[in-house]
Amino acid sequence: MVFLGLPGAGKGTQAQTLARTHNLSQLSTGDMLRAAVAADTEIGRQVKDIMAQGDLVPDRLVIDIIGEHMSAPACAKGFILDGFPRNVAQAEALDKMLEEKNIKLDAVLELVVDTAILGDRINSRIAAQPNSARLDDTETTLMQRVKVYEEQTAQVATYYEAKGLLKRVDGMQDIDTVTQQIKAVLGV
Ligand code: ADP
Repeated sequence: MVFLGLPGAGKGTQAQTLARTHNLSQLSTGDMLRAAVAADTEIGRQVKDIMAQGDLVPDRLVIDIIGEHMSAPACAKGFILDGFPRNVAQAEALDKMLEEKNIKLDAVLELVVDTAILGDRINSRIAAQPNSARLDDTETTLMQRVKVYEEQTAQVATYYEAKGLLKRVDGMQDIDTVTQQIKAVLGV
């Protein structure tokens, strides 16, 4: 499955819950890239500034990272892609990788939220974890991440809608209600 949603829409939270209850792997490109930055690897040094600005890191890099993880034994029972694909080029690369591995994409879920509430959600995230605050959780960067979503990632939803794979859930409700609705639309 693929989870789509604006920054702060709750896709990480919901992907984690569904992965746990259904024995799937959650593959979050944001988490993987943050780990690379924290470990100060070659890739980490390459992406640090781009992420802090709220821009997309190069396609080739995330496509390779996802390709590697998808082949891991932990993904054999299925996986949720959280934060990938983020533009149409990535979506096309994903189709190709899935075809090569003979894996079928079951569904694409978009968590729909009002951009007006995102600032509040991100601010609560910072208040809850002041010491581990993400470098990109600032007002300016959030605005850039929203812009990138609207300019590039929204097209990914359209791409999957045309394939009949897209399901939308209202992400403005409380966490448990959203979880229930996701399970209902996915039929799991
Ligand atoms: P959010 O959805 O809250 O913006 P993520 O944790 O998914 O946060 O991503 C954080 C940052 O990591 C992005 O702003 C971007 O710089 C980088 N990133 C994550 N996934 C991708 C991707 N698929 N393609 C390019 N850049 C990515």
